[in-house]
Amino acid sequence: MKRFLVGLGVFLLAAYAAIYFFAPGLIEGSVNLVEEHAPYDIADEARELHSTLTIIDLHSDTMLWGRNPLDRSSTGHVDVPRMVEGNMALQVFSSTTKSPAGQNYESNSADARDQLTPVTVLGLWPIKSWTSIYERAVHQARELYSAEEQDPTALQVVTSRRGLDALLEARAEGKPTVGGILLTEGSHPLEGDLANVQKLYEEGYRIMGLQHFFDNRLGGSLHGQSGEGLTEFGKAAVMEMERLGIIIDVAHSSPAVVRDVLALSNRPIIVSHTGLKGACHTKRNLEDDLMKEIAAKGGLIGIGFWDAAVCDYTPAGIVKSVRYGIDLLGVDHVALGSDYDGSTTVLMDASEIPALTHEMLKAGFTEEEIRKVMGENAVALLRDLLPQD
Ligand SMILES: [Zn+2]
Repeated sequence: MKRFLVGLGVFLLAAYAAIYFFAPGLIEGSVNLVEEHAPYDIADEARELHSTLTIIDLHSDTMLWGRNPLDRSSTGHVDVPRMVEGNMALQVFSSTTKSPAGQNYESNSADARDQLTPVTVLGLWPIKSWTSIYERAVHQARELYSAEEQDPTALQVVTSRRGLDALLEARAEGKPTVGGILLTEGSHPLEGDLANVQKLYEEGYRIMGLQHFFDNRLGGSLHGQSGEGLTEFGKAAVMEMERLGIIIDVAHSSPAVVRDVLALSNRPIIVSHTGLKGACHTKRNLEDDLMKEIAAKGGLIGIGFWDAAVCDYTPAGIVKSVRYGIDLLGVDHVALGSDYDGSTTVLMDASEIPALTHEMLKAGFTEEEIRKVMGENAVALLRDLLPQD
């Protein structure tokens, strides 16, 4: 009997270890794909210009998958080594915390079974996070800080203007450092408690999305059922975010929420990952007129690298949406918002971003347009909106 129990114990331990080491990778490997393609030919002129750019991407879901961003991964789209290869300066890391079963762009119920619970259990996340959405956001932030602690020369978590300037200075001196900024994908991690805005700020979050795929206590999702604007709690949360200097992200918010935020807020807002409806007519993208209002208030639109955002997700296709965005909104309001590692299929991982510079030059973009879209617009917005220290 004893031998049986020991055997059973060893077996269970081995099974759990196998799940821990392989399951998150297996899940990620089946949803975050880089479609097979021939290597991109980058013209010398593009390569040269690319090496002088400051490149910022406004959205990736990398922290969900339990891998250390310092390690080069054979799955997914972005990590620090691939950022260095692609000359990226900074990645906004979003925390995904709840995903309804049957997730789709049309209509999701807030009560649908949550698909992320197995990820938290199999990934051996802290037990609190198995049931608490708030704790899931805390865990993902701490994982990013833990990577920074392991190698601060490789990765710096940016929480202030001073931190951003220090990062850009280090890079200008030739140090191989990249930055990360934390964003919540939706504000359901508040769990209805306004005090959690400040707590998440203290955990390092500097950008907060309001909704994800379902309506929450702040208001309606672009893919929810109510279509409603900000609730009273949503208004109070937006005001609290502004008080703390948190940047608001309306990617995935209902048009009514976006209009309410624009009416309520005095600061520019962002759409961290999206496309433009006039360039790609999908349910994922907000109407052009609303995008114009966001831009008119100083906002920034991050253009995604996946099909539902840009329809044609080849580098040349992404550049077409960027061109459309510049023509519609002005050169100061368009940025990159890849949605890397967001259960997306892309044709270009972080190491292959020079392909964008190549296609922009080929499409006749000016150097100024390329510099701004690739990152200088994001630098300007972050310098303007992040807290000083
Ligand atoms: Zn998203």
